[in-house]
Amino acid sequence: VPPARDRLRIAIQKSGRLADPARALLASCGLSWRESRDRLFCYGETLPVDLLLVRDDDIPGLIADGVCDLGVVGRNVLAEQGADRAANDRPAAFREWRSLGFGSCRLALAVPEGWAWQGPAQLAGMRIATSYPALLSRWLAEQGVAAEVVLLSGSVEIAPRLGQADAVCDIVSSGATLAANQLKPVATMFESEAVLAGPVAELDAVRGELAALLLRRLDGVLRMRHSKLLLFQAPRAVLPSLLPLLPDAEAPTVMQVDGADELALQALCHGAVTWQRLEELKRAGARGLMVLPVEGMLA
Ligand code: ATP
Ligand code: MG
Repeated sequence: VPPARDRLRIAIQKSGRLADPARALLASCGLSWRESRDRLFCYGETLPVDLLLVRDDDIPGLIADGVCDLGVVGRNVLAEQGADRAANDRPAAFREWRSLGFGSCRLALAVPEGWAWQGPAQLAGMRIATSYPALLSRWLAEQGVAAEVVLLSGSVEIAPRLGQADAVCDIVSSGATLAANQLKPVATMFESEAVLAGPVAELDAVRGELAALLLRRLDGVLRMRHSKLLLFQAPRAVLPSLLPLLPDAEAPTVMQVDGADELALQALCHGAVTWQRLEELKRAGARGLMVLPVEGMLA
């Protein structure tokens, strides 16, 4: 039994697509770290929250084993390892706690460009190369198709050209890699983005408190990520024509300046505050429009 920990430990990707955005997101929750020389472990300074820098594939297992409490990982990796556990009758040990809004991609079935795609039934008896055997097998079963799953740990998209497989099941974002290998995506099996993963079981009291604190901050950051604070002035008389231009705003704060007719307003807008919107507000009588980013919010 490992000794009880009184610090929270979060696993993130050491290098790769999710490494920098994961660290930036946690930093925006007020965490900072003193980096160790080998960059495997980062000791938390502002809060007792440490980072473990690992391969993304290791993150679900680290959570399952209790080595880490939380992790930032692609939903694709989490779901693959979850489906693998389920297929082997092992209990669920990790789950998605929050979706984080970056690292979006999808797990897609791709076939040679020359194929006339008629549907999954066409895959019967074919060989499909993938690094996601559990998700692919589950999808094939759902489609009622018997095909051979060829497990490759990398470079899945060249398998058809090498004669190793007839089709592939791989992560796609722009589709450029597929196109470069004369493949075309024909079905989406799974939509993915980066997620905060945590255990299914509850954390102990100390780490549970830390995790709850972090989640409250994270929710504030995620909610405010696209929000702006809009400050402006306007004569009271034009207010009725301004408010319809702010449908995504919380009820604005209205302050009186220079007597009863001149108002200063502040509105928290959750949608995009574009130049076009500012120009519309100005035409409707607003002046001194100022747009401010929102760094955090505690509800
Ligand atoms: P590691 O060395 O940590 O194992 P990796 O090569 O497995 O790294 P990356 O290529 O950095 O992983 O991708 C990490 C995650 O980024 C993927 O699991 C996926 O969730 C997401 N992602 C977003 N777009 C893409 C894409 N075009 N190709 C692959 N992954 C993508
Ligand atoms: Mg990996």
